[in-house]
Amino acid sequence: MDRNRSGLFKESSADALAGAARFIGVGTGMAVGARNLVCVALICIGLPSICMAWGTQGHQIVGKIANAYLSETAKREIALLLANDLDISGAPSGRMSLAEVGTWADEFRSTPGGRRTAPWHFDNVPLCGAASPAQVCPNGNCASTQLERHLKILADRSETTRNRNEALKWIVHLVGDIHQPLHASDNGDRGGNSVLVRGAVNLHAVWDVAVVQYGTTQKLLGRPVTPDQVAEWQAGTVSTWMAESHRLAETLVYANLPTGWACNVVPDGRVDLGNEYLELSAPVAVQQLQKAGVRLARLLNEALNWGGNGRF
Ligand SMILES: [Zn+2]
Repeated sequence: MDRNRSGLFKESSADALAGAARFIGVGTGMAVGARNLVCVALICIGLPSICMAWGTQGHQIVGKIANAYLSETAKREIALLLANDLDISGAPSGRMSLAEVGTWADEFRSTPGGRRTAPWHFDNVPLCGAASPAQVCPNGNCASTQLERHLKILADRSETTRNRNEALKWIVHLVGDIHQPLHASDNGDRGGNSVLVRGAVNLHAVWDVAVVQYGTTQKLLGRPVTPDQVAEWQAGTVSTWMAESHRLAETLVYANLPTGWACNVVPDGRVDLGNEYLELSAPVAVQQLQKAGVRLARLLNEALNWGGNGRF
């Protein structure tokens, strides 16, 4: 869920993870789960190629959850679309599942041909004050518009299989991204990238990596999703889900900063978040991943619901 803006801030997932590990190691009141995370993370610091997978953990979780809520029709169609999946170099990827292809959009962004898609990963919605559509989504280059556009491509049987394959990969990725509150908001700080954090990279990286890691080590993902939750979460639209994510940025991501926050003010120096911040944030981050998973399934079931049209 990396979010880079205009190439001003670039970091690898391994860097983000190393930062997250340093952050979690801060303080003496470290929880058992956090200690475990430090162990995992420290091993990874010397093995950046392996650690890239950790930076993608959130997207993998979303894809895995969605898979459990797919219709049989959608499952069959997805299997066909991923049967000849290609990686960013154009070689067969061998990726067969939503969890595996969920990071393709981030990989594509790092290629010369994919640089123009960097703004597709977020909506630039200011925390304070009204924003013009041109600011939130300049020329349609933002997550919500691109998500809607790719849903239409996926559902369009006159499109080529390759176009629909790439649309599917964009959808899997962007549904995840819009559930990260800092992909749905901005406080004059490039989605939290300018808010430096003691022992970590920055606030955005903490939300991309550390809170997810903390949530999984605390086994928060093991909590079952009830049928009522599925029904409630699957209601709404891309726009209401984006608004919900945006509210979390205000009520949680920024509201819980020990330094407090003000409109369009970037704190001086590095913010010392402390472990309490992780404890408050992780349950919400995990629930956002769960919501993203069941909502992704709804969108894919709708887009691929071709029953009765002679395709299957
Ligand atoms: Zn992204």
